[in-house]
Amino acid sequence: NKTLCAGLGTDIQSGTFLMEHEGADLLRKYELPIARSTIAKSKEQACQIATEIGYPIVLKGMSREIIHKSDAGVVKVNLKNEDELTSAYDEIVKNALKNNPGADIAGVLVQEFVPKGMELIFGIKKDPTFGHQLVIGLGGIFVEIIKDFSMRMMPVSVDDVEEMLKELKSYQMIEGYRGKKGINKQLIYTICLSLNDLIEEHPEIEELDLNPVIFTDNDAYICDVRILIT
Ligand code: ADP
Ligand code: MG
Repeated sequence: NKTLCAGLGTDIQSGTFLMEHEGADLLRKYELPIARSTIAKSKEQACQIATEIGYPIVLKGMSREIIHKSDAGVVKVNLKNEDELTSAYDEIVKNALKNNPGADIAGVLVQEFVPKGMELIFGIKKDPTFGHQLVIGLGGIFVEIIKDFSMRMMPVSVDDVEEMLKELKSYQMIEGYRGKKGINKQLIYTICLSLNDLIEEHPEIEELDLNPVIFTDNDAYICDVRILIT
């Protein structure tokens, strides 16, 4: 789609997935809280970026052909120094090529490592009849077991989002329980309202997945972006 491609300055055909760094570039324009990251084209550049961001960092291999990065062995988290970065970099390139010998590796994304927090998933799906639907769900290790999510037609209001959260089985975890701090819900509302703006300007987005979004005491960090455009 021309609009989206123009916005990204890249040549992307419809029906393809954006790589994480492309999706992140798009989301940053809507002030969505993307984890700090820069793409590196060489190991030397990766080291330089890591020093700027500060260790520990995460490395992820970026390739149009790789949609599920951890399955392909191209995500290495919590790298604490240049030695760890160097060997992870080599392993990522090796795994990307093992996965697909003809893989075109666009680069390696150097990303800040986000400390543990509560994880949510934000998703968007375009329904042929009802249009874009926003999904909020519980993320992290529970996602397969609990399958906890709620859905609304977009655009959503803050009241809609509050209702969606109340529908979750894990609402108590978001609110906080037994003295354990929950999530600052303002951060959730802000993300959803920014997603409204994104979809209004980019209706060609067919699917979007922010998984995980990690919430710490005061901040939200979008750690992965997967976007399918039509
Ligand atoms: P994919 O979903 O394509 O396999 P992700 O980018 O989501 O790849 O990375 C896989 C997992 O690694 C995430 O689900 C998360 O647990 C962890 N992870 C990814 N990025 C970060 C980060 N910046 N900080 C901390 N953990 C991360
Ligand atoms: Mg992911």
